[in-house]
Amino acid sequence: MKLTARAMQISPSLTLAIDSKAKQMKASGVKVFNFGVGEPDFDTPQHIKEAAIAAINAGMTKYTPATGTVQLKQAIAAKFKRENNLNYQLSQIVVSTGAKHSLYNAFQVLVEEGDEVILPAPFWVSHLEQIKIPGAEPVIVITSEKNGFKMTPEQLRQAITPKTKVVLINSPSNPTGGVYSKAELRALGEVILEHEQITVISDEVYEKLVYDGLEHVSIASLNPELKERTVVINGVSKAYAMTGWRIGYAASPVEISQAMAGLQSHSTSNPTSIAQAASVAAINGDQQPVQDMCAEFVKRRDYMLKRLLSIPGISCPQPGGAFYLFPNVSAYFGKSYRGQLINSGTDLAALLLDKVQVAVVPGVAFGNDDFLRFSYATDLATITEAMNRVETLLKDIK
Ligand code: GLU
Repeated sequence: MKLTARAMQISPSLTLAIDSKAKQMKASGVKVFNFGVGEPDFDTPQHIKEAAIAAINAGMTKYTPATGTVQLKQAIAAKFKRENNLNYQLSQIVVSTGAKHSLYNAFQVLVEEGDEVILPAPFWVSHLEQIKIPGAEPVIVITSEKNGFKMTPEQLRQAITPKTKVVLINSPSNPTGGVYSKAELRALGEVILEHEQITVISDEVYEKLVYDGLEHVSIASLNPELKERTVVINGVSKAYAMTGWRIGYAASPVEISQAMAGLQSHSTSNPTSIAQAASVAAINGDQQPVQDMCAEFVKRRDYMLKRLLSIPGISCPQPGGAFYLFPNVSAYFGKSYRGQLINSGTDLAALLLDKVQVAVVPGVAFGNDDFLRFSYATDLATITEAMNRVETLLKDIK
């Protein structure tokens, strides 16, 4: 059997692989401190679950339009208007099986062999693979820890070639938690508008998880020309603790949304009808649970960052959003833990899991193995115990 070149070059998702290893260890009776996958530990709010139960009881168990129900698209359009000052027709919105699926659709219809996609690093593991699957070339822009891992307009300008088709922006960022300000996005937008062949894919799935009085800004909202060049990706997973329900959405110029709709009509058809009903309740309903979750995330971030920064050799900018810390651990490279040499984030992540049962994702998944990603979507008691373990292990590295 010969698999396609496309299939052969896919690296499976390391974030999901680490999560499944941690869950397997847990199932076999090992106490694991799981900071691997980015998944809120909170339960889905009750009113959202009830909307799903009501949908089942009302017989909403059949196909819906492939791109989502009118009710959900109306809720999404109203959300864009209310929260992002963006006006979209329902025909410009495609609801999919998670934001990951929305991103997949966008890359599939926008890029092919011979195209380049500018991807600021550190990047989310699936952004890279989704660029490669349709045969496009990722052009990686290495950002600096010193400015919170944000691509500068100069860096963007230098990376653009006549082949550049898409620029990926992910704010708040997975894995760094970096949040671009309006001024920073405006400056990037100006560079993008100098090149008419470029479309922006703006992954905004962590939109609601911003802290310290920061504001989430969608690059599409900055001016009508940029809106015409942007695919906005969002979803309910992160904001409403609905990762398992798999609802994401894209809003884009109608030419793009129609292409994505056609693709989806031949692949997955509609996302789950029941999850769509639940998502209407999430988007239209009480937003207090989101605020409560954010308040809790900030406490955890502050505590965990304080603990990490108190460990010699570790540096880490304070992230303004999402629920990840992305410390630089390269000061430990070239040293050993009880005779075991450490040369990378991968080595250190393996040690943390094997020796003290703390699961983290090595930076290699995100384009830089000098780092580790800790997801702090875990309760404070677990974080406290895990940080004690991390500290103890690192102290033993000589
Ligand atoms: N976005 C989350 C993460 O990075 C979910 C897992 C995944 O789909 O990669 O951990």
